Amino acid sequence: MLITNARVVTWGEQNRILDDHAVYVDAGLIADLGPSTELVERYPQADRLDANGQLLMPGNICAHTHFYSALARGMAIPGRPPRDFPEILRKLWWPLDKSLQPEDVYISAMVSLVDAVKHGTTTLIDHHASPNAIPGSLDQIAEAVDASGLRAVLCYEVTDRDGEQKAAAGIAENTRFLERCAREDVAGGRVQATFGLHASLTLSDETLEACRAQAPQGTGFHIHVAEHEADEYDSLQKSGLRVVDRLLEHGILGPRTIVAHAIHVDAREVEILKENSTWVTHQPRSNMNNGVGVAEVESMRRAGIKIALGNDGFSNAMWEEWKTAYLLHKVWHRDPRRMPGDILAEIAVLNNAQLAGLFFPNAPLGTITAGAQADMILVDYHPTTPLTGENLPWHIIFGFHDSMVTGTMAAGKLLMKERQLLTLDEEQITARARELAPGVWERYRSYVPADQP
Ligand SMILES: [Zn+2]
Repeated sequence: MLITNARVVTWGEQNRILDDHAVYVDAGLIADLGPSTELVERYPQADRLDANGQLLMPGNICAHTHFYSALARGMAIPGRPPRDFPEILRKLWWPLDKSLQPEDVYISAMVSLVDAVKHGTTTLIDHHASPNAIPGSLDQIAEAVDASGLRAVLCYEVTDRDGEQKAAAGIAENTRFLERCAREDVAGGRVQATFGLHASLTLSDETLEACRAQAPQGTGFHIHVAEHEADEYDSLQKSGLRVVDRLLEHGILGPRTIVAHAIHVDAREVEILKENSTWVTHQPRSNMNNGVGVAEVESMRRAGIKIALGNDGFSNAMWEEWKTAYLLHKVWHRDPRRMPGDILAEIAVLNNAQLAGLFFPNAPLGTITAGAQADMILVDYHPTTPLTGENLPWHIIFGFHDSMVTGTMAAGKLLMKERQLLTLDEEQITARARELAPGVWERYRSYVPADQP
């Protein structure tokens, strides 16, 4: 396919805006890039898609999400409102994940994937929990990702909170799915795996040891760390160590490990994360919603840690996450110089692409250049002021809306054209989700613990 008349945003190390350019897509990759007139001559037989002067950009990447949370939208939490994050876990997320049956897992992923295609997010790193439907849950999510045409990295969050058997089942689900992804091209290679862990506060030393022992050689982990002080207090009480020190002792850290949040880590934990080349993901919308504080991601970046941007199950409209990060660090530090657009772009574009690229090493992600993965979006944005490779982050923050995404492509396949979804039946998925949600909510209410005085 030849996409013509585009204003191409290359991203990559040196962002460029290329007017009236065309991109030739072949075998899932960007095969050629050049002025429209030249490429039309070079590929006269190719199917054409006229971008009509819209921006053609690499698809967005989400470094940490939860497809399983989609059916919670609008659900009431019984009793008094949770007063802190541990109560949010006990009263909302833990009873909710228990309520998910196999079809709920599938449809919840589908709802999230529709949202991702519509908002131009083409790669997602998911963290799944469904303790009453563990075996095969990652296959169901993989099937949904396959149907959508998007790219995803999946894992199951191992935890001790539902007993030994479920912890063992979680470990087995990770290892089984990791082996499946090593053995075959799941969804044509668009689905990859990592090893999920819930958080230090719900993992015993024995379970951490079992995860380390059973994870295939070279596997990284995906875990929540210090999202609330409770994680640190629990770790100190259990082991005498802070969370990151404890994870280091159990061999969980490393260049393929993703640590979500890292809000309450201390200076030595930051050093340890850096020394072990561990990734940290930042989810400001979730952090604000849970009232858990602000991760010092600029300081961690200065210490040499690679920061990536996730959404923690919030909408897959990643520019909303950009805007939140941009504003949050300014008000938190009462300094308008904090979290400037160029650092945000480094985090959300370059680092997210590098992190996702660990799982899809065949061709670069997150850039429009010959040889890169053909994961791209069309954005109907016509700037009223000069737009350059350097000032694009500020156009995104102050001018872009995720609804401006009119076309989405992943692995060279068009998934949305002129805002019409081509792979997923949104109406059918939405209708089925509305049918299933009341059952999930009813089971959820039966699992919510009574309020403590
Ligand atoms: Zn999370």
